[in-house]
Amino acid sequence: MKLILLGPPGAGKGTQARRLEERYGIAQISTGDMLRAEVKADTPIGREAKAVMESGALVSDDIIIRMLSARIDQPDCVRGFILDGFPRTVPQAEALDRMLAAKNMALDAVVELEVNDAVLTDRIAGRFTCGTCGAGYHDEFKPTAKAGVCDVCGGTQFVRRADDKRETVAARLEAYHTQTAPLLPYYRAKGRLRSVDGMADIDAVTRQLVETLKDVGSAS
Ligand code: AMP
Repeated sequence: MKLILLGPPGAGKGTQARRLEERYGIAQISTGDMLRAEVKADTPIGREAKAVMESGALVSDDIIIRMLSARIDQPDCVRGFILDGFPRTVPQAEALDRMLAAKNMALDAVVELEVNDAVLTDRIAGRFTCGTCGAGYHDEFKPTAKAGVCDVCGGTQFVRRADDKRETVAARLEAYHTQTAPLLPYYRAKGRLRSVDGMADIDAVTRQLVETLKDVGSAS
């Protein structure tokens, strides 16, 4: 199964993509996670991307497309993948179409998580993850059961993304509306777009995703 999850920052793409990865045994590919790993490892790509990411703008299509093309050639993508945070621009979507055609692959579905802009800043600004196991939390909506201790692994170190600050979130939403939202009509015109209500609680969104994908590939 080959999927794209679309939606603004804070829509829940990462959370849902990890759940679909587990459910369908397909690889979750987050270009944001890949870039954060490059930044952490201080690679040439990471050095180029760091300031752009911290400003809330998008990294150049060229870097992203090369990174993604190499990623989908990895063996864990043979059964399929779910793209989270890619494509982010129409040129990236066009490059993906060419890439898949060259590899004799086709997309099964593009699913949009629909959310109101008004909730996004609060969702993003409060989020943090366990530095040990990566479990995701939120100050207000999903705190740890015991303050300062990860529910999953008992870790006590937590991390917040540098670009989750309120000031940066506005720039990220702006980038979404101007550069990424045009992908909705792009995929709608190809008859590929499905939408689910991203405002529901996490489990309800997962149920809707599974429902909307029940006719697709290995999910059927
Ligand atoms: P995300 O984790 O998807 O919210 O991405 C974090 C940041 O990484 C974005 O704000 C961009 O600066 C950069 N980024 C991630 N994916 C892409 C992409 N497909 N195209 C351009 N920039 C990206």
